[in-house]
Amino acid sequence: MRLSFHARDASRLLSIVSRTNMDTHEKYMREALREASFAASEDEVPIGAVIVCRGRIVGKGHNMTEKLNDPTAHAEMIAITAATEALGGKYLNDCTLYVTVEPCPMCAGALAWSQIGEVVYGAADPKRGFSTFSPSLMHPKTKIIAGVLAEECGGIVSDFFKNKRS
Ligand code: ZN
Repeated sequence: MRLSFHARDASRLLSIVSRTNMDTHEKYMREALREASFAASEDEVPIGAVIVCRGRIVGKGHNMTEKLNDPTAHAEMIAITAATEALGGKYLNDCTLYVTVEPCPMCAGALAWSQIGEVVYGAADPKRGFSTFSPSLMHPKTKIIAGVLAEECGGIVSDFFKNKRS
């Protein structure tokens, strides 16, 4: 009797904890979405990213491949450079990257070099996402969480291409 009570308590606690985590994930994904909307306003494919370290945003970026004429100027790459500069080191072990769309193999490789602690992404990208090629492109210690605000994150990209065609 007592045991089952404890078990129920524990599971309730667990669900509260994960709900809090999800609220945090959604909060920062909204920041990444804000970055994505900056990209859209500059006629770039709207993908945005933020890097969070101990509750503080230390790097932001949005896709700038057109503006910079640089095929490597993905949101994640810009956010990584901003974060390592802010933190003064090349490793991001204590950080979480939030990005609106699943990282490509190039960005997954860059994230692996940074040894980032956690990657949270919104929409999956079955064509160019790293997991289509090889999930092992990421660092083995990096925790991956997929599908946070996926609909919104994917929606702004499909709206962007819809508007381009019309
Ligand atoms: Zn990329």
